[in-house]
Amino acid sequence: MSDSLNANEISLVEDSSGFEERVLANNQNPLTSTFNALLNIGANAVDHHNQQKYIRITNFLALNTFVGTFIYLSIALFWEKWYWFSSLAALCILSLGVIGLNALGKVNVSRIIFILSINSFVFLNALLVGPAGSVQNYFMVFVIVPLLIYDIREVGVVLFGILLPALLIYFYDFASPLFKEHNFLPEQQLLLHKIGVVIQMLLTLLGVYQLARYSKITEADLEASNAQMMLQTAELKRSNSDLEQFAYIISHDLKTPVRNISSFMNLLMNKHSAELNAEAREFVGYSHQGAKRLERLIDDVLAYCRIGTNLPRPIPVNLNDVVNTIRFEMRERLAGVNGKININKELPQVNNVHASLIYHIFQNLISNGLKFNKSDAPEININWTNSLNYYTFSIHDNGIGISQEYSTTIFQMFKRLHNETDYDGTGIGLAICKKIVEYYHGEIWFDSSEQKGTTFYFTIRKF
Ligand code: ADP
Repeated sequence: MSDSLNANEISLVEDSSGFEERVLANNQNPLTSTFNALLNIGANAVDHHNQQKYIRITNFLALNTFVGTFIYLSIALFWEKWYWFSSLAALCILSLGVIGLNALGKVNVSRIIFILSINSFVFLNALLVGPAGSVQNYFMVFVIVPLLIYDIREVGVVLFGILLPALLIYFYDFASPLFKEHNFLPEQQLLLHKIGVVIQMLLTLLGVYQLARYSKITEADLEASNAQMMLQTAELKRSNSDLEQFAYIISHDLKTPVRNISSFMNLLMNKHSAELNAEAREFVGYSHQGAKRLERLIDDVLAYCRIGTNLPRPIPVNLNDVVNTIRFEMRERLAGVNGKININKELPQVNNVHASLIYHIFQNLISNGLKFNKSDAPEININWTNSLNYYTFSIHDNGIGISQEYSTTIFQMFKRLHNETDYDGTGIGLAICKKIVEYYHGEIWFDSSEQKGTTFYFTIRKF
């Protein structure tokens, strides 16, 4: 039993950092240095600061249990209570065993053995001494031991350690009538009761203090990590907006000269075509095409940078209207390739979004489904599912498919899997979709096989 806890020793475990500092600090006094050396047994073998703390506290409690039990051992000897003496001797050995196990690095086993042995000891002694000694009340106090020697987040062991004495005290009510012959005099029972009350009060105070300390540490931890997260978020936002601003300015400033090149190439072809030979005309044609492509790229980069800026207030948007508009706008293209856009299940009205952004996602994905498609009858099937916080949309095509190895890179800017000559495009469409989807706190991904085509999925968070 941790019988001999006194005020000085309690103050030693009060403050964990102070406790450890004191443990590690000056070893001038041989008694202190021996005590410190005993507390540190096994602690230096583990790296984690918290683990070291719990090993030291276990050593501290086991040592006190040993000393306290030893005192009781002498009383048992003096009163010649041999059965009591044997149970005390067993606990003495077990307490030393706990420290020994820590020395061997078996820090988890040692803590479990400690909890089991002190509880079995209380149970056995409560039966031997009898109810008047109130030994069974130690169960109430030992409920706090797991909170002292474990991190409160190790829920399983902490709960086990708390429930064990609770169960044993219940069991004691059934078992105690079987031990009628206690053989203790009333004065002896009274003395044990008095000593017990003092020790229990000290232990309870220690437990309450430790709990308060835990909650303080947890709060401080939380506050610190919140502050850190806020700083990081602010930094991320700033560098993101810096980058976007940079891309916007560059693109914007590039636009005018590129337009000029394109228009002058046009003029050259229109006005002086007759003066140029075939090869010169071919070169001017390439330059014109290049300038046009650059213009498109700049427009797409600008569109990417503008997502989320200068938006009107979000409104409810009926997605059937969005897809019908796209279908109408693509009617000639669809007729040309014998294509179809099907809505498998009537689409929902989504609140708090922007029609222009939602249009962009559907338009890009549908357009890709038709573009990267060699079927005689390209077909797009749109479907959706509903969950508590999200809508999940799917856009399936019967096209050429995408290898799964591109599952993340495909959404990067300028990532294209095909040549400009095979399929035209800038490689920004999916990056735009991803940025919009993330703006609505959703995710985008695809599932694809060459035979069955591709299904793009995206989620939109409900607000
Ligand atoms: P773009 O269409 O301008 O090339 P995207 O960002 O929209 O750019 O798409 C990037 C690349 O992803 C495309 O070049 C293509 O290789 C591949 N891809 C996108 N959608 C599909 C699809 N439905 N089927 C097959 N490949 C696709």
